[in-house]
Amino acid sequence: HNRKVRKRMSATITPRPVQKLIEEFGRLPGIGPKTASRLTFHMLRSPREQAIALAEAILDVKDRVTLCSVCFNTTEADPCGICASHDRDREQICVVQEPLDILALDRTGEYKGLYHVLRGAISPLDGIGPDKLRIKELLARVENRRGDAPVGEVILAMNNDIPGNATAMYLWRELARTGVRVTRLASGLPVGGDLEYADEVTLGRALSGRREL
Ligand code: ZN
Repeated sequence: HNRKVRKRMSATITPRPVQKLIEEFGRLPGIGPKTASRLTFHMLRSPREQAIALAEAILDVKDRVTLCSVCFNTTEADPCGICASHDRDREQICVVQEPLDILALDRTGEYKGLYHVLRGAISPLDGIGPDKLRIKELLARVENRRGDAPVGEVILAMNNDIPGNATAMYLWRELARTGVRVTRLASGLPVGGDLEYADEVTLGRALSGRREL
């Protein structure tokens, strides 16, 4: 069926809306031109309700999801569920690059503290300096300028790559001035791999074996 549609399309000029959807799908990460066409033809064959559900889900993500003003995790309520929870160890802050890292670390069951999402890593080649990240806000939390419970330990959980290591070094220097205990995940994480892709056992081990800097 798919091949028939494509044949008919190439015989005439591809309708503008079809072209447009292929273009939009093609902008998404990891989607090449072939997949973009396949998704578009799939949507053409799908019932209207399915198209509406997809469009609404995309809009909801933009309209109903915001950043937690404490930890900068993605959330529907501010503060987020983790920051508002009293079942967590509020003296520990684990610093991560992206919200997905929180899911990975929580899955290990090894960590019950709070988080802080930097929203990236220092990478001068990409024009990302410390000022583009949520570092000021982290220091404010550690220095207790917000009037929260005192922080006893900051765990640096950066990716094991050049930007991740540069970020960890920078944070360690900044945090040293505050006198807080700073630890870093034990080595053993895949080099160059994102934290979110590390398996639970490896990540759990890296957490329990974390070292003081
Ligand atoms: Zn939060």
